[in-house]
Amino acid sequence: MITAYEPDRSIPAKIRRRLTRWSVAHPLDHAPRKSYICFTFDDFPKSAADTGAEILDEVGAKGCFYACTGMSGERHAIGELFEPEDLAALTRASHEIGAHTETHLDCARAGNDDVLADIDTNLRRLIDMGHDTPVTQFAWPYGETNRSLKSRLAGRFDVARGVLAGTNGKGSDMMQLSAYELDETETSTARAAAAIEHAASNPGWLFIFTHDVREKHSSWGTTPAALRKLVRLARDTGAELVTPSMALTRIRDTIHA
Ligand SMILES: [Zn+2]
Repeated sequence: MITAYEPDRSIPAKIRRRLTRWSVAHPLDHAPRKSYICFTFDDFPKSAADTGAEILDEVGAKGCFYACTGMSGERHAIGELFEPEDLAALTRASHEIGAHTETHLDCARAGNDDVLADIDTNLRRLIDMGHDTPVTQFAWPYGETNRSLKSRLAGRFDVARGVLAGTNGKGSDMMQLSAYELDETETSTARAAAAIEHAASNPGWLFIFTHDVREKHSSWGTTPAALRKLVRLARDTGAELVTPSMALTRIRDTIHA
């Protein structure tokens, strides 16, 4: 499903994406006083739930796994996808489960009502799979969204994560937070490492995202060694490696500190 996707590369689509990013639906109202780094996995394959989570657990880090329920149990280029027991194991280990739509649709191209109905199905199916913890996190499939959708999602989720590179701070759009992708390229790993190092002396809220974590990973995934190196680098900077919900709570708490 995700392999067949081609983003709209037309000029109007590029302009629309830029306008969408500029249009802030729900600004983060606090500045992080220290750095929070969220390691996250999209769709999500079993290798993320197994190997990815193990690498986080080695240093006591907590991550977020965005579940596309329609892909559950299927096999894609990113490998075998999660099953209900993975949701339970991750939750028991204090990792977070986020929403990622039922059908992995392009939310910028689909009608808004269709997107919201698809997200409702996603949330309902997570409950059907036994995940009864409230889901407050969302990631846009392909990072695609639009201005009015972002506003409409603000009442449904605390945070929606996008895919555009950047570090989040006061004023960042909680309905399209920036994130550093880890894919098959070395430049993606180097860019994430540079952002983590920069955050050591410049407090910010970082998201890192990838898909499969395997030696023979897809174009959208990474190796266990590359992920482990970044996780340990992040830990060594003194940043807190927490779930997005934990990061948000702590960033908001600091104003009262
Ligand atoms: Zn995805």
